[in-house]
Amino acid sequence: MDFLFNEDQKQLKQKVTGLCEQNLKPLEEKVGETNVVSREIASVLAEAGLFRLLVPREFGNTTETPSLVSVCVVREQLARRCPNAELIFAMQGLGSYPIVLFGDKEQKAKFCPLIASGEKIFTLALTEPNAGSDVAAIETEAVPSGDDYVVNGQKVFISLAPDADIYTVILKTDKSKGSRGISGLVVEKGCPGFDPGKRLDLLAAHPIGAPVFRDCRVPRANLLGEPGEGMKIALQNLDFFRSTVGAGAVGMAQTALDEAIRYAKKRVQFGKPIAQYQVIQFKLADMATELDAARLLVYRAGYLKDHGQTRITMESSMAKLYATEAAQRIIDQALQIHGGNGVVKGYLVEKLYREIRLMRVYEGTSEIQHLVIANMLLR
Ligand SMILES: Cc1cc2nc3c(=O)[nH]c(=O)nc-3n(C[C@H](O)[C@H](O)[C@H](O)COP(=O)(O)OP(=O)(O)OC[C@H]3O[C@@H](n4cnc5c(N)ncnc54)[C@H](O)[C@@H]3O)c2cc1C
Repeated sequence: MDFLFNEDQKQLKQKVTGLCEQNLKPLEEKVGETNVVSREIASVLAEAGLFRLLVPREFGNTTETPSLVSVCVVREQLARRCPNAELIFAMQGLGSYPIVLFGDKEQKAKFCPLIASGEKIFTLALTEPNAGSDVAAIETEAVPSGDDYVVNGQKVFISLAPDADIYTVILKTDKSKGSRGISGLVVEKGCPGFDPGKRLDLLAAHPIGAPVFRDCRVPRANLLGEPGEGMKIALQNLDFFRSTVGAGAVGMAQTALDEAIRYAKKRVQFGKPIAQYQVIQFKLADMATELDAARLLVYRAGYLKDHGQTRITMESSMAKLYATEAAQRIIDQALQIHGGNGVVKGYLVEKLYREIRLMRVYEGTSEIQHLVIANMLLR
């Protein structure tokens, strides 16, 4: 895929690969399958300057605004086998990009240095018990009171909660206006009435929780954009980050393919390595072809965005949909090639099999990606 990368991005890919091998993998092994955010891993990402890719140039990036291709490069490489690092990097982006897009001068001056330095960990709080795919159904409400908003409501499935420090919350500032009454508000952990909530235990390791707001006072200065711009904020944020989920899926699928090839070459049955059977060879060929197709869709979305296409809604949804579904199939085949060993707890393909499942749900399920693509085709 390097033909789409500029020199900086080629170097970035090498740098992240080296960082994974030398610094991150030993830490990942130490941390293991955890549902707690590792600050040590976050520090390594910060020291390597990777969070600077998520802010505008004036706060340390080398490009004017975050480059989608660069963010995808990082996410793909981290996803090769540094799952904790990949999630932290992804959420630092998803949680903070609304500030980069819609923050005013003061908000950017306050928050961008915290994003870039990794001093604070960011996340996005959108989903609620009664509002998942149907974002307009959110009930969390912010009511003006003096210089503050008073926020009440419950979020759920918020990645990195309760450990994250700063939550970009999508909520209602005017319930009478339906989806036009939705806004974005930056909430800092520790403000009165913010309860970081309980941790959830998922099928695969993934720090995630359900923060609650009880008469939580948040300065009105933390409102992003104008009241009522929340849907726009959420959708533009997803436009950018959905293709990065695809990049993560591609990284995981690449690892699964590598493992399958390695295993097929060494596993001997009926007197020869299973890699010599055509059935296995065809599986590997299909896996590699699907993987390349997925990667092309991901970097096409990134390339178009970085070259001035303002909205990449369809390209981003296609990248997310195809890459996550293909990665699930590729990892499933890699597990099949491992036979019984593939389902033994602790085997790499067994972990990937559980981890990839989450990606087909978050940032819009596969069904929602189909709806988005169909809507774009039919409008
Ligand atoms: C690992 C993980 C991490 C997450 N991280 C975050 C996070 O950091 N921040 C955050 O805000 N949220 C997060 N989420 C929430 C995630 O975005 C939602 O789970 C997702 O959008 C689906 O919402 P839901 O779970 O309520 O399912 P529902 O919306 O209830 O959907 C249930 C099923 O119905 C289908 N469906 C729904 N509507 C339609 C329709 N119109 N047509 C056809 N089918 C439909 C869905 O595709 C799905 O199969 C995370 C979720 C997971 C699993």
